[in-house]
Amino acid sequence: MEFSELGLHQSLQKALDKLTFTKPTDVQVQTIPAVLAGKDIMVSAKTGSGKTAAFLLPMLHKFLNDPRPNTSTRALILLPTRELALQTVKAFEQFAGYTQIKVGLIMGGEAYKHQVATVRKNPEVLVATPGRLVEHIKNGNVDFSDLEFLVLDESDRMLDMGFQENMLAIAAVCNEERQNLLFSATLKHKGIGGITGLLQDPVRIQV
Ligand code: AMP
Repeated sequence: MEFSELGLHQSLQKALDKLTFTKPTDVQVQTIPAVLAGKDIMVSAKTGSGKTAAFLLPMLHKFLNDPRPNTSTRALILLPTRELALQTVKAFEQFAGYTQIKVGLIMGGEAYKHQVATVRKNPEVLVATPGRLVEHIKNGNVDFSDLEFLVLDESDRMLDMGFQENMLAIAAVCNEERQNLLFSATLKHKGIGGITGLLQDPVRIQV
């Protein structure tokens, strides 16, 4: 299969052409249509499978086809570590390079004040680590009442790092009408039941 068959917005296709990504990976072939169809998903996929593009591309496609310039955060992507958060922002910049869609980053070990300024700029997409984001929620700096996507990436690692409570606290302040996209190296993780209750009738995808 070719990327062009997925019918992604032309500015995303242009970015893929520039990256010379012609064929979607297995996880992308299965995940992109499910996300475009509005489903919640739970996906077992490891780093290196192309899972970042699997959630970013359909999310960006939907935002491009339904611009909402004055809303608060439209997508929140949670990751366990600073390193993974930075990698995700990098991937976002590659795929969204021909769009006006903006990303903000919230993670521990970075100046809090600077992050408050970032959120005030109202980026459509926020990439965050759970601990620091909970601080911003407590201080009323973020607004997820219009959120359309909650992505829990590397969920098994977030559980291993003790972030279950934080994930649930974050989800509790998010728009209930959102789509939930859960990624984990394995869906058999012993703690996964603690967060799958956030999903509504999810499509299970194994690669
Ligand atoms: P990820 O699993 O999201 O960390 O992606 C692993 C690497 O594969 C990243 O460097 C991506 O840029 C790259 N990648 C993702 N999708 C594709 C694709 N369809 N074709 C070629 N490379 C890809």
